[in-house]
Amino acid sequence: MEAVEAMDAADPLQHFRDEFVLRDGLIYLDGNSLGALPKATLERIQQTVLQEWGQGLITSWTEAEWIEAPRRIGDKIAQLIGAEAGEVVACDSTSVNIFKALSAALSLKSDRTVMLTEAGNFPTDGYMMQGLAKFGGAAYEFKAVPRDRLFDALNDDVAVLLLTHVHYKTAAMHDMAEVTRRAHDAGALVVWDLSHSTGAVEVDLNGANADFAVGCGYKYLNGGPGAPAFLYAAKRHHHAQPILSGWFGHARPFGFEEDYEAAAGIDRFQCGTPPILGMAALESGVDQILRADPAAVRQKSIGLVELLIKEMEPLCKEFGFDLSSPTNPTQLGSHVAYSHPNAYAMVQALKARDVIGDFRTPDTIRFGITPLYLRFTDMVEAARRLRLVCEQREWERAEYQTLAAVT
Ligand SMILES: *Cc1c(COP(=O)(O)O)cnc(C)c1O
Repeated sequence: MEAVEAMDAADPLQHFRDEFVLRDGLIYLDGNSLGALPKATLERIQQTVLQEWGQGLITSWTEAEWIEAPRRIGDKIAQLIGAEAGEVVACDSTSVNIFKALSAALSLKSDRTVMLTEAGNFPTDGYMMQGLAKFGGAAYEFKAVPRDRLFDALNDDVAVLLLTHVHYKTAAMHDMAEVTRRAHDAGALVVWDLSHSTGAVEVDLNGANADFAVGCGYKYLNGGPGAPAFLYAAKRHHHAQPILSGWFGHARPFGFEEDYEAAAGIDRFQCGTPPILGMAALESGVDQILRADPAAVRQKSIGLVELLIKEMEPLCKEFGFDLSSPTNPTQLGSHVAYSHPNAYAMVQALKARDVIGDFRTPDTIRFGITPLYLRFTDMVEAARRLRLVCEQREWERAEYQTLAAVT
């Protein structure tokens, strides 16, 4: 344990932990699903509600620069994902942004009909593709193939490939530059879902020659429950037309013209009025993570993951946990997944010991690793508490056997 304490003492990111509301004793391993609350966000929200809304009322759209929030926050997120200013906009949910990015990509490939993804991708990604495939007389086809058959499936019919960079269950990470190159060679465009990447692993969209990307505001960006998401479109695709042609994507929203004319640049990917309270919380989270050195974040994430995997090794042998994440750090995102026949009950029993992870059906336990507020000692302590849950068979309790509405 002394060696592990020394790792915490030498951690260049250790001071960030105090910037979060986290109660003593809690080990929060679910920041990949809902990030913790930054203390600065409390102040920011209070300011936005009491001053900007309460006092400023409608004048705050200009005076408090609400109107610029989607672009301003987009430019900040751009710095985290290897994009330029003017290529990212903060808006809508990840699901809606997937729809917009896909429809824009399809509009650029009008001679092709297939939307391709990998089997087992995050459900909303597949659902949005399935919805689009049924739209407008079923002009498009949805196709999902296993990960190792993706390159073979890239034929002349594929218009767009949609992939999640870091897999939501296993944390397996795609080689973004290589996959993008292969898709382009086959004449297809790529939409990257960065939900489990942004703020956790280094991403270089323009370095990878990416086309479109989307990502989540409430995971590693700590933007709060249901925070606005973001959309990236490479500059060369800014003439593409997303189907959702709302007034905030118009060239002159306050011209109140009868006919739609898309705004130049990334603004055409906005749709309706931005949710300012959510935007304020998101910006606070993004401002915080921008103060952390991305290389240090990544290095610490790998260190925490490796330590947790090491601490879990004896539990795997004794109690039947099975690691489902890759161990090579170049192929791994920032969470660790195990399968276990009693996964759901284990996660519940662990919560009673103040370790919060999550369960993904049918048998996955996920431990999210957030370098800004986790410590190396937390990895050792989490494994110690899980051992108690197993040894004392705490997961067998009746109340842990029925699934809750949100897992
Ligand atoms: C979390 C997540 C989403 C979330 O989509 P919402 O529209 O915010 O509900 C989408 N895709 C992936 C890969 C995710 O991990």
